[in-house]
Amino acid sequence: MTSPVSFGFNFINSYLTLPKDFYTQQTIKQFRAPQNIIFNQELAQALELNISELEQEGFIIANGDKLPQNAQPISQAYCGHQFGHFVKLGDGRAVLLGEHVTSQMSRFDIQLKGSGPTIYARGGDGLAAMGPMLREYLISEAMYHLGIPTTRSLGVMSTGDPVFRETTLPGAMLIRVAKSHIRVGTFEYAATLEKSLLQNFSDYVIERHFPELINEENRYEKLLQAVINNQARLIAQWMCVGFIHGVMNTDNMSIPGESIDYGPCAFMNHYHPNTVFSSIDRHGRYAYQNQPIIGQWNLTRFAETLLPLFNDDIEVAKEKALELLDTFKHVYTQHWLQIMRHKIGIKTQSDDDLELIEDLLKMMETHQADFTLTFRHLNQPELLDPGMASSEAFRQWVLKRNERIPEHQQQHSQQLMDAANPLVIPRNHLVEESLEQATQGNMNPFHDLLEVIKNPFSSPKDSRYLEPSSIEFEQTFKTFCGT
Ligand code: AMP
Ligand code: MG
Repeated sequence: MTSPVSFGFNFINSYLTLPKDFYTQQTIKQFRAPQNIIFNQELAQALELNISELEQEGFIIANGDKLPQNAQPISQAYCGHQFGHFVKLGDGRAVLLGEHVTSQMSRFDIQLKGSGPTIYARGGDGLAAMGPMLREYLISEAMYHLGIPTTRSLGVMSTGDPVFRETTLPGAMLIRVAKSHIRVGTFEYAATLEKSLLQNFSDYVIERHFPELINEENRYEKLLQAVINNQARLIAQWMCVGFIHGVMNTDNMSIPGESIDYGPCAFMNHYHPNTVFSSIDRHGRYAYQNQPIIGQWNLTRFAETLLPLFNDDIEVAKEKALELLDTFKHVYTQHWLQIMRHKIGIKTQSDDDLELIEDLLKMMETHQADFTLTFRHLNQPELLDPGMASSEAFRQWVLKRNERIPEHQQQHSQQLMDAANPLVIPRNHLVEESLEQATQGNMNPFHDLLEVIKNPFSSPKDSRYLEPSSIEFEQTFKTFCGT
């Protein structure tokens, strides 16, 4: 065994202070010939890691006998409601190496995804294919640069071993960075244990993610409210860029409020509220327009886990939970309206805002207009969908919207719009094309696309990054999860 390299990781392992029910210590599978495929220098720098060590030897993390100093690999236990059904899960193909603490005392989980089967693998191979891991890298970077809370990716390593799906694919591993991997599903798991363990776990979460609540009376109720607020804001942000998560199971809803688990997610191009891309979402449970409702449904499952900590009288506890859950709709709508107002260039509030925004969305639906470019080009009708731009309804809409923008604020209105409306999203056909090439060994299209999505509010040199995926492409485009 060689002496351990730190790579600059400053690990603590606070999760190991929890009762043993919450995790299992794990060894990492030895892979044949691990290699760095892509490494996130900017993130490594932000995390104060040793860039040259990671670039030269980062791939050795993939091999269990050469783990970074002080890493103590564990897989975490959790449950989840998957498409509405309760299941016992856990990290089936992921291990947490430790929590990296920066000099500013920010703490990040460093997790390997695709690192071999764990005790929670339920018969799965514990592996990941290169395409989906690069997809997670790309989409999480896109979300980050759009200003949306998200887990990030420090790198992708190929393992040198094949993985067997419908076809044989090159295996890979992702290094995921998150505020933590604690999910609604982790609370669902905690709620299956004794009350003292649930309380112990909830206190751990409060101390780690909501330290301002430690000394609060009714801290568990305040925890619920904080998680509701974070999720309401996050989902509003998704909706305002046309992001469809695709698999909003409770095990994929993060307690610190980050977007997590980029499986079958995709950005909508042609606007339709029922858009679904996930191949397994046959009934559209996680369709674009359902995301806020599902968010509230998931938060209801979260609230249920906390009931024993709210009050010994279950009826009193339920009443309190319902009262808090009722705030979701209002908090969500306020965030959504605030972003949407800016997207159409309006700064002030009015009772008619909701109707004004919905009228625009209805026209976009009728004309299958591109979600991203319609908002960005609202003031340049020559760049909009010609059918929509030339319609009387749109002309009337613009007049109504303009009534809300005083003459002297027109410049400011355009600035608001430019800051709220990205020009670039990762277009589905380009993502697929870049992953196909990457899997065949050509990383150039992936790197090119990555550079463009890192500046979503600026105009790319090559206009092909702006073009929506064709309607024909989107009609047959399907995304997959767990691959
Ligand atoms: P996901 O759909 O990625 O959120 O995964 C749902 C559950 O399935 C989690 O518990 C994962 O750890 C597990 N899982 C997904 N793919 C695999 C795999 N190839 N091997 C073992 N477990 C897996
Ligand atoms: Mg998951």
